[in-house]
Amino acid sequence: MLTDNHGRKISYMRLAVTDRCNLRCFYCMPEHGLDWLSRTELMTNEEMLQICGLLVKMGIEKIRITGGEPFVRKDIMQLLTGISGLNGLKELGLTTNGVLTAPYVPELKKIGVRSINLSLDTLDANRFFTITRRDEFSNVMASLDAMLSHDMEVKINAVVMDGKNTQDIIPLVELAKELPVSVRFIEEMPFNGDGHVYDGLHWDYVRILDEIKNKYPEIKKLDDPAYSTSYNYQIPGHKGSIGIIAAYSRTFCGTCNRIRITPQGELKTCLYDDGVLNLKDLMRKGASDEVLQGALLTAFSHRPADGWEAERARVAKTGIHESMATIGG
Ligand code: SAM
Repeated sequence: MLTDNHGRKISYMRLAVTDRCNLRCFYCMPEHGLDWLSRTELMTNEEMLQICGLLVKMGIEKIRITGGEPFVRKDIMQLLTGISGLNGLKELGLTTNGVLTAPYVPELKKIGVRSINLSLDTLDANRFFTITRRDEFSNVMASLDAMLSHDMEVKINAVVMDGKNTQDIIPLVELAKELPVSVRFIEEMPFNGDGHVYDGLHWDYVRILDEIKNKYPEIKKLDDPAYSTSYNYQIPGHKGSIGIIAAYSRTFCGTCNRIRITPQGELKTCLYDDGVLNLKDLMRKGASDEVLQGALLTAFSHRPADGWEAERARVAKTGIHESMATIGG
């Protein structure tokens, strides 16, 4: 079993395959986009597969592909197919905005992807446009349909933003009335690509729950699965469930089992750190698996206790300027 210096199991990796995205969610990046990485700065499929293979041998059991938007990467299906064939990997999932996803769903199912996180902050097409600056709502809903009709486990992730979509909390809750989906509300974090100044958290997990309880006082707490980042609930009679992720309040660090790899190959052992090891650079210098493994183990033995410690360490150096798209949200 892979563990860190605080005795926490490490078994889950989120791999960001690109920083590019076909939406411009205002809380994630500026309207003009980011300073996109060049092709050579991105890891190749072969490099990503090598790292995944090594980490699975070391004890990673679950990999989630993210970005940027995974489906803007042209060779994404080859990568997913390669990863899905790794011996010892128990689960392969992905996170997508759903703009391009629908046609890929049958093939995803075929290669063994059973769970998809779909980002959707509103059920109102106009507000969708205001938030994402793109007119893609109908494509996202088509992807949701495709996922459900292929019996995929779907988690819908909605960032809750003061003055932007809090009127969507109840409609999103009600999506789980008829559909077997888990709707998860996420606290907004400061990773907005410098598009605007983060002026503190207005809707924390307590306030989000209060809003739902106001309408549905009968809401019940569910047992949270091991390593869950969400507090989970169910409203009696609803097919799906509700989750609340205290991403800014960071209430789950004590059991955090996840690491991240950014599109340029930077290992993050905490969402709030600024990268602790560049795996792509090591690989391009010809490092063997043995050398990579040693470097990874050293990084795992220096993990911050929690996201507050990680944030303090980096704010002292650089502050937080990057977008979730460059982190692997
Ligand atoms: N494009 C894919 C998607 O939309 O799911 C994957 C990448 S996206 C960066 C991953 C998740 O990060 C999305 O659910 C998005 O809403 C979330 N996210 C981005 N910026 C955020 C922020 N500032 N605070 C909280 N969540 C954020």
